[in-house]
Amino acid sequence: MKRRDFLAGGLAGAAVAATAVKATAIAGTPAPVDGDRGADILGPQNKPLERENPESLAPPVTDAGGTPNLKFSFDQAHNRLTKGGWAREVTVRQLPIATALAGVNMRLKPGAIRELHWHSAAEWAIMLAGRARITVIDPQGRNFVDDVGVGELWNFPAGFPHSIQALDGGCEFVLVFDDGNFSENDTFLLTDWMVHTPKDVLAKNFSAPESAFSRIPPDIEQSRYIFNAPVPGPLNADKVSAPAGATPISYSFHTDAQVTPVTAPGGQVRIVDSSVFPAASTIAAAIIDVQPGAVRELHWHPTADEWSYWVQGQGRMTAFTGKGGAATFDFQAGDVGYVPVAVGHYVENTGSEPLRFLELFKSPRYADFSLAQWLGLLPPELVRDHLPLPKDVIASLPRNKPLVVAGRS
Ligand code: MN
Ligand code: MN
Repeated sequence: MKRRDFLAGGLAGAAVAATAVKATAIAGTPAPVDGDRGADILGPQNKPLERENPESLAPPVTDAGGTPNLKFSFDQAHNRLTKGGWAREVTVRQLPIATALAGVNMRLKPGAIRELHWHSAAEWAIMLAGRARITVIDPQGRNFVDDVGVGELWNFPAGFPHSIQALDGGCEFVLVFDDGNFSENDTFLLTDWMVHTPKDVLAKNFSAPESAFSRIPPDIEQSRYIFNAPVPGPLNADKVSAPAGATPISYSFHTDAQVTPVTAPGGQVRIVDSSVFPAASTIAAAIIDVQPGAVRELHWHPTADEWSYWVQGQGRMTAFTGKGGAATFDFQAGDVGYVPVAVGHYVENTGSEPLRFLELFKSPRYADFSLAQWLGLLPPELVRDHLPLPKDVIASLPRNKPLVVAGRS
């Protein structure tokens, strides 16, 4: 087994087996040393960052070339604090390669409302903690309201007006938009529009006396964005009868009830795209679970860039960018990753707890190619002409997609 040297916990030059590197790296201080490559650091160090990024500090010998940065953490992002909660975003401004998708991490206190608004991008979401009530209407005047809990999703198509309100206990979620340039601070807010419309026009528009709008401003000077409100009552009491009826499709997705996981020896994969969640017509998702030591197999996506969000655990990912280029990144819960279309990659769980991350795509359908399955579906001689592998390894190449591989011990 390949061994790597680390200056860990004061044990200069201690040889640590590759599989134990991560635990040591997190507990102690790694050094940019790998065998006879590298040397210790004499200058200033940001040790917490070094501990979180051992594969950047001492990349595997297989890394090469100048791959762009593929990682940014919500924990590095500017946070917008309000009385009702907060919101922080990772867009193309924070992670320049992420042109296809952008994300927001948002927290709402109990009853707090992300105000009625709409925007030019479609919005996909997953609830991380707590529960929220969502509302939306479609262009035909049909309405939708539902409550969404942990692990459940919603999707609002571009331009559809919507709201999110935390229920008892508050909530936190991640939003993903199908435009890397999208900013959560650049949406169309109900109050903002009201403030910026002449009051005589508001009076005509709502068939009400101008005096009805006398407190917009001063009570509302700009916009509300995220603000506190009483926790709403039962869901049924919030259902408003629309002449056109309710929306024909659901804009929420109750994950556990609506999708069956594809289980694999090293974990499981749940694919949620427009084939099971029609409202998600522009954003496809996979929810990936990887057991400790297991690997989300070598694969690539043929149609779209991948925007990943790390929900739980830790792992490493190497992006193979072709022309001899490869770069390895470490990820922890709360991080965002990005893999351009067609770029080969894997994700290895390097921690001691289960890893969960999301793969998101600006695409109506999820699609990937498995390296192992590709080789397994070819004539063995053709594979052997390329790769000097033992016969039994070539004979046991899988014909089904392994997805998450436990590996051999
Ligand atoms: Mn929105
Ligand atoms: Mn992927």
